[in-house]
Amino acid sequence: MESADSDKDQERVIKPRKSESFNSPTADVTFLSSDSVLFKLHSSHLSVNSIGFPRADENIVVDAKRVPLSEHSDILDLLFRFVQPPVKDTSFRQPDLFYEIQYDINNFFRLAETAEKYVVFAAMNACYLTMQHFQVEYPLQILNHCVLHDYLPLANKAAKSSLTEGIDEAIKYLTAPGLLIRYLKYFSKWQDASTYAIGEFERHALRLDCPAWTYAYIMYRQQLDESCSNIGVMPQGDFKSKRCHDIECSCRSLPNVWPDWFRRLSRFTDIPDFGDFDATSDYEPNE
Ligand SMILES: [Zn+2]
Repeated sequence: MESADSDKDQERVIKPRKSESFNSPTADVTFLSSDSVLFKLHSSHLSVNSIGFPRADENIVVDAKRVPLSEHSDILDLLFRFVQPPVKDTSFRQPDLFYEIQYDINNFFRLAETAEKYVVFAAMNACYLTMQHFQVEYPLQILNHCVLHDYLPLANKAAKSSLTEGIDEAIKYLTAPGLLIRYLKYFSKWQDASTYAIGEFERHALRLDCPAWTYAYIMYRQQLDESCSNIGVMPQGDFKSKRCHDIECSCRSLPNVWPDWFRRLSRFTDIPDFGDFDATSDYEPNE
């Protein structure tokens, strides 16, 4: 009994099933997913919406032949919605990737990778536009994708947003060749700059022994703990209620002197964008 059951199980795994959405009888190309789902598509749609899919035979209409793909049916089902013209059931719309990235982040990045692999124009574009809105939430995954596929402006933004993330996360997500080392050097430059900025604050402000300046310093340290990219971000706060009794202290005019004084710290942020960053050069802040 047991072996009959396991034979049946095996049969279920191996025997391909048909995709519900991609099964047109007039389709002339059939793809087989890694989990044995058959997707039938029209070569005319494939040829205008993508250029990267493998063909069973370049010269003959493939018809009954199945082109095996290494991706799971979940991914191909999404991807092919960017190949086949949208239908009435979906209000003639392509998939909403804003929903997808929040619903299943791993699926989203697998889709983005597969769209690049098979050069599905609309899917590549939709993934890229979606990533632009989520570069603060998923900076390391987006940095990795953008470096792999040469989306430089977004890679620069994502690298800066990534400075809030830990080293363990960087090791997990930055898998593009050479990227992790390069990123760790970039991260280390920003950390050095953050140390310089804090040192500058301590030299010029803390010696005043003033509640207002100490308060400003604590706020500044807090925002640098969140991300060393906050070096040039001026802390906002209630300075008026924290003045000291020293009539000579600059806290009496702190709201006026603060912006000018703060510009001293901004000079430490003169670190090139990730794309222009030379990992071999020594960074020295401008004096
Ligand atoms: Zn004071």
